[in-house]
Amino acid sequence: MSSSRTDVVVLGAGIVGVSAALHLQAKGRAVTLVDRAGAAGTETSFGNTGIVQSEAVFPYTFPRAPGEIAAAALQLDPRVHIRYAALPAIAPWVWRYFLASTPGKRLATAMAMRGLVGRCIAEHRALAEPAGAGALLREGGWIKAWRTARGEDLAMRDVEEEKPFGLPIVKLSREGVLALEPHLGEIVRGGVQYPDPLTTPDPQALTQSYAKLFVARGGAFVAGDALSLAQSGDGWTLTTADGPLQASAAVVALGPWTSDLAKAFGYRFPLGVKRGYHMHYAAKNGAFLNRPVLDLERGYVLTPMARGLRLTTGAEFARRDDPPSSVHLNRLEPFGRELVPSLGARLDPAPWLGRRPCLPDMAPVIGPAPRHKGLWFDFGHQHLGLTLGPVSGRLIAELMAGETPFVDPKPFRAERF
Ligand SMILES: Cc1cc2nc3c(=O)[nH]c(=O)nc-3n(C[C@H](O)[C@H](O)[C@H](O)COP(=O)(O)OP(=O)(O)OC[C@H]3O[C@@H](n4cnc5c(N)ncnc54)[C@H](O)[C@@H]3O)c2cc1C
Repeated sequence: MSSSRTDVVVLGAGIVGVSAALHLQAKGRAVTLVDRAGAAGTETSFGNTGIVQSEAVFPYTFPRAPGEIAAAALQLDPRVHIRYAALPAIAPWVWRYFLASTPGKRLATAMAMRGLVGRCIAEHRALAEPAGAGALLREGGWIKAWRTARGEDLAMRDVEEEKPFGLPIVKLSREGVLALEPHLGEIVRGGVQYPDPLTTPDPQALTQSYAKLFVARGGAFVAGDALSLAQSGDGWTLTTADGPLQASAAVVALGPWTSDLAKAFGYRFPLGVKRGYHMHYAAKNGAFLNRPVLDLERGYVLTPMARGLRLTTGAEFARRDDPPSSVHLNRLEPFGRELVPSLGARLDPAPWLGRRPCLPDMAPVIGPAPRHKGLWFDFGHQHLGLTLGPVSGRLIAELMAGETPFVDPKPFRAERF
């Protein structure tokens, strides 16, 4: 079989890879997008909460208060689930996450991230409009709801921290929350609304609409195994379902699987995963939600999705490839029935499992591989891959084109590990 040539091969067709492919294409490059699934948005980008989190300047850091750590370790905090058998394997990464979560480092990450997060809505709109996917981006933001005075204190502490960043935030009484979301239950005492973030009723459909735009604009999308990537002369070769492919440059956007490929080239990134599940529910008595609602003290979100009300869980600490477990979801479901008393039957045969790809400082790697010409990384988007996919695509395309990037790329460089 004769081999075909492309300028850039993008490995991984989650929201991050698809967005990078579109931005590189816009710079005039011939781009081939490769995914082992042969389709876009089948993994982490399939089942997330669907919020384009323009308010998420501060990273999700590891708790520092001993009481909070102890509660999580003893499975007393429903926001977290720990698979004890995984602890020896994940402990080194958890330790680095803890060390990177000091107040000073948290602020440094926030300062670095605001350049990316601040453009997330504009970058999504710039792709969604030509993709004809405007209806997949809803306005109205999301709500952080509390049950107790302690929950209110926690939420207002976040609001104080966010103030210098000038984010629009609306504090709501119980009546104010109910005016926006009339089907919430007795347990809700109040909340804050972040009115600016966009939300999608179908994150996979959004990713796929961007992938269709890439193909409609002349991009190639093929099935293939990224692990077949090899250096060849000045460039790169890859085996795909359509035969061998040669490229001048390769972008690794494999989300939680990036370390498999990076290792083969001698890069040992401290990439862990915070796993999360979802389940869809029917709604009884015509109940509905207009926007995602976070049950702050219990740490899950209920979101109105195309397929029903989606409950997404917080973090499960486990090995990436541990088998799924229903424990965390089963624990949270009764709280979900308190939040929305008309929550009906489960609609999925089993909980969906996703893996948030997380580096200890909760910032992505976006930039060149330090020791390989023409190899680029775009991964580690943790809780914010849907938010940051398009804007990360802009950054990597500007860096690869040798342009002055719109944001300081230093905090995202691979060399920091
Ligand atoms: C429960 C949950 C809720 C979330 N909520 C939100 C939210 O509200 N907002 C937000 O911004 N983010 C959210 N996230 C995070 C977000 O979903 C991820 O950060 C994002 O999807 C990561 O995208 P990605 O493209 O890097 O990875 P992925 O979507 O996982 O894509 C990686 C791709 O690589 C492919 N691949 C892997 N190995 C190979 C190989 N060897 N060869 C070829 N292809 C390969 C896979 O098939 C896959 O398509 C959530 C995550 C979870 C789990």
